Amino acid sequence: MKNFEFFNPVKILFGEGQIDMITQELLPYQTVLLTYGGGSIKRNGVYDKVISALKGKKVLEFGGIEPNPRYETLIKAVKLARENNVDFLLAVGGGSVIDGTKFIVASIPFEGEPWDILTKGIKVEKAVPFGTVLTLPATGSEMNAGAVISREATKEKYAFGSPAVYPKFSVLDPTTTYSLPQNQVANGVVDAFAHVLEQYLTYPSNSPIQDRFAEGILQTLIEVGPKTLENPTDYDLRANFMWSCTMALNGLISTGVPTDWATHMIGHELTAFFGLDHGVTLAIIYPALLTEMVEFKKEKLLQYGSRVWNLNGENLTPERAIEETEKFFRGLGVKTRLPEHGISFADTKPIVDRFAARGWKMGENKNITSDIVEKILKRAAE
Ligand code: NAP
Ligand code: FE
Repeated sequence: MKNFEFFNPVKILFGEGQIDMITQELLPYQTVLLTYGGGSIKRNGVYDKVISALKGKKVLEFGGIEPNPRYETLIKAVKLARENNVDFLLAVGGGSVIDGTKFIVASIPFEGEPWDILTKGIKVEKAVPFGTVLTLPATGSEMNAGAVISREATKEKYAFGSPAVYPKFSVLDPTTTYSLPQNQVANGVVDAFAHVLEQYLTYPSNSPIQDRFAEGILQTLIEVGPKTLENPTDYDLRANFMWSCTMALNGLISTGVPTDWATHMIGHELTAFFGLDHGVTLAIIYPALLTEMVEFKKEKLLQYGSRVWNLNGENLTPERAIEETEKFFRGLGVKTRLPEHGISFADTKPIVDRFAARGWKMGENKNITSDIVEKILKRAAE
């Protein structure tokens, strides 16, 4: 196990009715900017519950944060917050609203062009405090310090992270997810599953405790994912799904181990160029990446195949473990090949060119260069 620092200050308020707890959490603050997306919270009653918990505060609203939140939109919220001396933000929605709000809170006190936070690796030292009400289990953004922001004009999508953008608290009420469309639940299962794989399916690292945490989350997602799709209002299924997604990316399982993240990096480009949902891009890239990198991941793939998919005997091969993974994604109704979305291998050339220009070396072995990205995309287009 490698040396590590572990710090996570996010207070989780978990369970039905916990939105009411916001009143208590907001006692020190006066002016709250409520951020949300395209209106799902108005249709499912979450908005009304939140407004009721905000009684007595000066409340401003900024709706319309789109999936894959855009810089062009978020910068308007930064202006609104600055003009009104907002001292707390409350993000109500999925990963996009939460990520977008992280960018807003970091940009409010930022001197200079906020886009530089994403492209020039400028350290975010301060941010306005914020909390979240999560309505879509998937990203883990409710309990981590990362965010992914897109710029529509240039078709770019970049991540940033800073301890300054940990939420002060996050409300996880499983009943807020009952209204989710099936495809968003499926996307969420795939995203959380991929988050675990990015931190687990690398090379063996003598960290049995970390391996067991990861395998436990994967097995739970396999157990409850399909069931919660079929029974959207089963509280315990949603609760376990929700907590699995949070635990998949709150820093715990990445401590002391190598991490990959190349699937996410390539997936972000598929969203930037073709507008595919985040979870969908991961379902397309992961099986292709594992197949391409099988030689480097062989040992861990065998462990994953045995412990997570219960493969044994002659069935226990790296290839079978990859097959099971793709079958799982498809079983949730998520397509795993580019042509199923009308995208050919030739269409992906700008992505390869972009990685070549950046010169990035990705993956746990830093050996996924643009030529490997090209091979992965070719496999994904088969
Ligand atoms: P999302 O983009 O936040 O939401 C997708 C859709 O689901 C939206 O149309 C939203 O509608 C709807 N929705 C959300 N909650 C709902 C509910 N309870 N009932 C009905 N509809 C609901 O999806 P996401 O997968 O959570 O977030 C994806 C973004 O997160 C991507 O940009 C991805 O790159 C990023 N991400 C971040 C991290 C991280 O660590 N920070 C990790 C992975 C991915 P409304 O707009 O109307 O609310
Ligand atoms: Fe993700």
